[in-house]
Amino acid sequence: MRALYLVILGRQGSGKGTQSLRIADTYGCIHVSTGDMLRAAVAEGTELGRQAADVMEAGHLVSDEIMNGIVAERLAKDDISESGVLLDGFPRTADQADTLERILAELDHELTAAINLEVPVEVVTERMLARRRDDDTPEAIRRRLSLYEEQTAPLLEWFARHDLLETVDGQGSEEEVFERLAAVIDSRRG
Ligand code: AMP
Repeated sequence: MRALYLVILGRQGSGKGTQSLRIADTYGCIHVSTGDMLRAAVAEGTELGRQAADVMEAGHLVSDEIMNGIVAERLAKDDISESGVLLDGFPRTADQADTLERILAELDHELTAAINLEVPVEVVTERMLARRRDDDTPEAIRRRLSLYEEQTAPLLEWFARHDLLETVDGQGSEEEVFERLAAVIDSRRG
């Protein structure tokens, strides 16, 4: 069976992190979070980390050029061609999606699906407020969510146009949501 090449999208507070771990665990694919990669680079103080730190702090996107390079390098590693990947946080722009398609074609792979874990704005807002983290003021939450909306709308269109988009209802218990995700992945992998 061909390795899975999945993309997962979801608002902050959608349960994307938890479900990503379960998908990687169940299907044996490698969870690649570009946010985690960048945060590790910042913590290590690498050249990349120095370039990315201010941009991330301001809530802006790191340039497509940098991101495309990081992801191309990671996807070319043997562990991914053997096990497949669950991309989390990439692509973020249509340019990144075009590049992803090209990188995978060069490696003789293609995307299996892009899963949008859908939890309405009001519900994720409630969840984030309930967590009571210092940076989770109603104003900050609204700003982050509207930025996400702005950035993600063109991507959803891109995936839909390429017949890759699957929308999964992210409300319900962790188990219920995982079962929905697994059903979609199983049907896509054929
Ligand atoms: P995340 O944990 O996915 O929310 O990523 C944290 C931050 O890292 C984002 O707010 C961006 O500044 C940066 N970042 C992560 N992935 C990307 C990407 N694919 N393109 C541009 N910036 C990214």
